[in-house]
Amino acid sequence: MRGFELVHPGSLAEAIALLDTDDDRVRPFSGGTALMLMMKTGVFRPSRLVHLGRIGAAHAAIAAGPNGGLRIGAMATLTAVEHSADVIRVAPVIAGAMKRLANVRVRNVACVGGNLAHGDPHMDLPPVLAALGGRVAIAGPQGTREVAVEHLFSGYYETVLGRGELITEVELPSQRGWTSAYLKCTTRSADDWPALGVAVSLRRAGGVIAEARLVVSAATEKLTRLAGAEAALVGAAADGTAFARAADAAVAEVELVEDARGSADYKAQLLRVHLKRALAQAVNDGAVS
Ligand SMILES: Cc1cc2nc3c(=O)[nH]c(=O)nc-3n(C[C@H](O)[C@H](O)[C@H](O)COP(=O)(O)OP(=O)(O)OC[C@H]3O[C@@H](n4cnc5c(N)ncnc54)[C@H](O)[C@@H]3O)c2cc1C
Repeated sequence: MRGFELVHPGSLAEAIALLDTDDDRVRPFSGGTALMLMMKTGVFRPSRLVHLGRIGAAHAAIAAGPNGGLRIGAMATLTAVEHSADVIRVAPVIAGAMKRLANVRVRNVACVGGNLAHGDPHMDLPPVLAALGGRVAIAGPQGTREVAVEHLFSGYYETVLGRGELITEVELPSQRGWTSAYLKCTTRSADDWPALGVAVSLRRAGGVIAEARLVVSAATEKLTRLAGAEAALVGAAADGTAFARAADAAVAEVELVEDARGSADYKAQLLRVHLKRALAQAVNDGAVS
């Protein structure tokens, strides 16, 4: 591994200033679990790493809001999210997804901001946050802005984050009246990277599905919202017929990619089966908050 500068800013403003450069070998570093793998394999050779540890405590809070929503600091570890009483109460689907995300050693150090910013379409958390209607708060040299999690990813390992920008927080809207589920389908061990991830959130009213947010990941170039499948559900009773119609629409609308975990045809079959299962789980197991 080549030498590089490791800096420890004491404030968010200092971190942003250290990242505000044309040199694309300068990167922020939170848990380091993804960065270290890229450095060990030579995919990434940094000139400077801006370690966020000293400002971590100021951006790691997890708190339920009075409106039924939730705020998660970008420097919260995945373990802190998994065990947070507020997360378990407001959005238990997040805590559930953590149980099969990597392993406890990774979750103990990996942070929410690094998990989202890495842009890997195989990550388990981004589709869950997108289905919950999450938004990320971003701070950078030009000030602050917000982006919906579903719009954070611009391509394979690509995000819309600009030069010097840091994710500081994830905010979820009220989950009252919504039920959610996440299904991770692996082709090797249970906690392996998914061949397919499907996250669903439904709001039912008057005996029908009033709103739906459906998201697929891992089998696609980037996390993708399933607008056609959502349209197939809205206004329908939450039953097997509607779920089958949504699964057909999902397979028809999304471009699935072949990789080491299976062909595109295989992923289409996984999507058809797991979307129906996720919808049934959201209806049958999901506690309405
Ligand atoms: C053995 C192993 C198994 C794994 N299995 C799974 C799995 O099954 N499912 C899954 O979802 N994930 C899995 N992962 C991936 C893991 O979830 C990620 O490596 C981790 O979440 C990244 O977070 P981090 O804090 O370590 O990021 P880092 O490695 O610190 O950073 C990742 C990227 O984000 C940037 N960055 C960091 N923080 C910020 C910020 N606040 N704002 C903007 N940019 C930032 C960095 O510059 C870098 O580009 C696995 C990882 C390992 C090592």
